[in-house]
Amino acid sequence: MAVKTDVLVIGGGPIGLHCAYYLLKAGRGVTLLDQAQAGAGSGAGNAGHIVPSHIVPLAAPGVISTALKWMLDPPRSPFGLKWSLQPAYLAWLIRFAAACTETNVTLAIPPLKALGLLSAQLFAEIIAAENFDCSYRTNGLLFLYKTQSAFEAGKQEAEILHRHGLPAEVLEKTAVHEREPAALESVIGGVDFSGDASLDPAHYLRLLKARIVQMGAQVHDYTPVTGLETKNGTITRVFTPTEAFQPALVVLAAGAWSPQVVRGLRLNLPIQPARGYSLTVVGVKNLPRGALLLGERKVAVTPFEGKLRITGRLEIGEMSTVPNPLWIQRIESAAREYIQLDQPLEIEETWAGLRPTTPDGLPIIGFSPRHKNLLLATGHAMLGLSLAPATGQVVANLVMGVDSGFDIRPFRLRWL
Ligand SMILES: Cc1cc2nc3c(=O)[nH]c(=O)nc-3n(C[C@H](O)[C@H](O)[C@H](O)COP(=O)(O)OP(=O)(O)OC[C@H]3O[C@@H](n4cnc5c(N)ncnc54)[C@H](O)[C@@H]3O)c2cc1C
Repeated sequence: MAVKTDVLVIGGGPIGLHCAYYLLKAGRGVTLLDQAQAGAGSGAGNAGHIVPSHIVPLAAPGVISTALKWMLDPPRSPFGLKWSLQPAYLAWLIRFAAACTETNVTLAIPPLKALGLLSAQLFAEIIAAENFDCSYRTNGLLFLYKTQSAFEAGKQEAEILHRHGLPAEVLEKTAVHEREPAALESVIGGVDFSGDASLDPAHYLRLLKARIVQMGAQVHDYTPVTGLETKNGTITRVFTPTEAFQPALVVLAAGAWSPQVVRGLRLNLPIQPARGYSLTVVGVKNLPRGALLLGERKVAVTPFEGKLRITGRLEIGEMSTVPNPLWIQRIESAAREYIQLDQPLEIEETWAGLRPTTPDGLPIIGFSPRHKNLLLATGHAMLGLSLAPATGQVVANLVMGVDSGFDIRPFRLRWL
């Protein structure tokens, strides 16, 4: 016997939880399944940056040559690549390389900007409406630079943002030290993306999970989806080790695991994991005033209530979520090049998470082209927290047949 449900959400990361929230608000019934603990996975240990400024996709001109250059200096490289001849992985790499063009950037900017701005606004609304206490700061994201060449690249990024009507303020040395007293003397400049924000993602997702349960969602932790049954282009049953569900509608929000969940459905979801790490530190004497991005080293730093999180590294193709102590130590050392940090640090937690990454840098949001009752909400790469509220709202709108007010066609499944 299968349990009849209205909307069944697979995956309780930032995307699944926000889909659930907006579906419940729209009056739908929600059952959410997570193979582990909803709200505690790849969304929890991340940097917590909410970045409407992030409008340029990962697949952009120059990315491949920069990545290759970084890989020649392994101890300092923010980037890594798994060596594997697995066909799906090689196909992904080829597609990614082909997408690193000016055309891809031009096409990706308008949808990323619309989704990012909507999401930033929805974060403010949710946090105010639900009274969430989650170290939410709206004082921007400050990029710090130690070298003139990286600072010049930062200025060019600010120019791109200005062209698209987004705020970005270039700060010369004195101004950047006034803005962030925790910055070391070696920092020669910065760019302040003042429309950005940050929060404690684990805390926020815990509160959101509790809220959707209060709103009536059935949340099943430690309930992995093991198979899907289809008939005539409709998902008829969803299997787990303990029970089966018979949903009216399914939302796939399983992040980097999404391709595994739909294997057997004849759906081509080109998503690869991009692993990253974080360390969370307590008892820091000089907490930075706000969220930082350490330019040359691509390390993110976020102050929470009495804590500091430092995150970094992007390893394409790596699926394990066991933190690598060597990289944790290297990320800490990178942070010490830019900001004052105690020696030694009191590390509360080390962590690894997966960014579900598509070849062209846009997420996949929309109905499956092959299934009447399957909605895809996945592939958000390094922006899965930032874009989650808007994705949740778009998904609820699609379910309810409501127009989202901007062009969501670029997010459809583009690989058939
Ligand atoms: C180091 C690092 C720093 C980052 N910093 C930021 C940041 O500052 N801002 C930002 O926006 N993003 C950031 N990200 C990216 C962000 O964490 C991801 O984009 C986001 O977690 C993706 O959300 P998701 O809900 O799609 O997937 P996930 O968070 O991975 O959630 C998917 C869920 O699906 C569940 N699941 C998987 N398989 C099954 C199954 N078979 N059955 C049931 N459940 C299943 C998993 O257990 C998981 O809970 C960072 C990522 C890393 C690694």
